[in-house]
Amino acid sequence: MYNPTPDTDGYEWPNCVACHRPLWADETNRLACRPCQDKTGQRIAALPGLFQQLDTTAMLMRGARRPGGGSSGSKTPPIPPRLEVLALVGPGGVAARLAAVEDAWRQALGWPIVPPTAVRAVHPVWRGSGGSQRVGAPVGGEHVYPYWRTQGAAGAVTRHVAFLGNNLLWACSSYESVGQDVEEIRRLHAECLALVQGERRPGRVPIGACPTVLEDGRCGTALTASAASHRLHCGGCGSRWETLGEWRELRAAQERMLAELATRQEAEGVAA
Ligand SMILES: [Zn+2]
Ligand SMILES: [Zn+2]
Repeated sequence: MYNPTPDTDGYEWPNCVACHRPLWADETNRLACRPCQDKTGQRIAALPGLFQQLDTTAMLMRGARRPGGGSSGSKTPPIPPRLEVLALVGPGGVAARLAAVEDAWRQALGWPIVPPTAVRAVHPVWRGSGGSQRVGAPVGGEHVYPYWRTQGAAGAVTRHVAFLGNNLLWACSSYESVGQDVEEIRRLHAECLALVQGERRPGRVPIGACPTVLEDGRCGTALTASAASHRLHCGGCGSRWETLGEWRELRAAQERMLAELATRQEAEGVAA
C-alpha cells in the first residue's frame, strides 16, 4: 500500500509518469500506475467503435452531396462535409496517430516497423472520359481517392488497437515515454467521443429551403444544418431528416422544388 517514506538520502518516491500521482508500494516496478493502464486500455478498446460511428457520419455527409459534382446549376448549396470528422477518419487522423504510437512502441521493443498508413493506403485513380475508373496499386503520390483511403483506415485502426491493447502492460511497465502516449490516447479518445456525441461546433450552415408539401403549397422555410449533428429539423413545419436515406429524399425533394420554380418562372416569362 502507498506508504510515503521520508526523503532520506534524497530518495524520492516514484510517481506515475502519466498522472503523476505516487505509485503504490506494489506498483514500484511500473512507470504508469494501474488506474492509468486500465483507463488507457478502455479508451483503446473504445476507439474502433467510435471510429466506425465517425466514419458512418462522414459517409452520410458525403452521400448528401449532389452526385456528379454539382454542375447542374442548382441554387441549393451543397451540404458541407464535417471537416473535423473527416480530419479524424481521413489520412492523418485516428489511424495515423495510432500508427505513430505503435511505431514508437515497436522501436522501443526492437520490432520491425510497418510502413505508415499514409504510404500504404494511397491509391492512384485514373478516370476515363466515359466515367470509367481505374484504381492503381497503393503508392505514395498525389492522386488520391478518399474512399479507398478511408476504407484502409478502418482496417488500420483495428490492427493498431489490437497491437496497443496487447502491449499496453509492457508499455506501462517498461516504456519510458509511456506518459506521452497515455496522454495522446486520452486526447484522441476525447476528440472522437466529443464528435460522436455532437458536443462541439454549434455553428449552423444554410442548406436550402424546406420542400415539405403543406396544404397551401411548399413549406419553404430556410433549413440549416449544424456541423455537430446530422439531424435536420425544419423550424417552420417540424419535418425531420436524420438518416442518409432521408437526406437523399430531402435533396431530391429540394431539386424537384427548384425545378417546379424554374418551370413556373419560365411559364410566367412566356406569358409576360
Ligand atoms: Zn497514473
Ligand atoms: Zn418545413
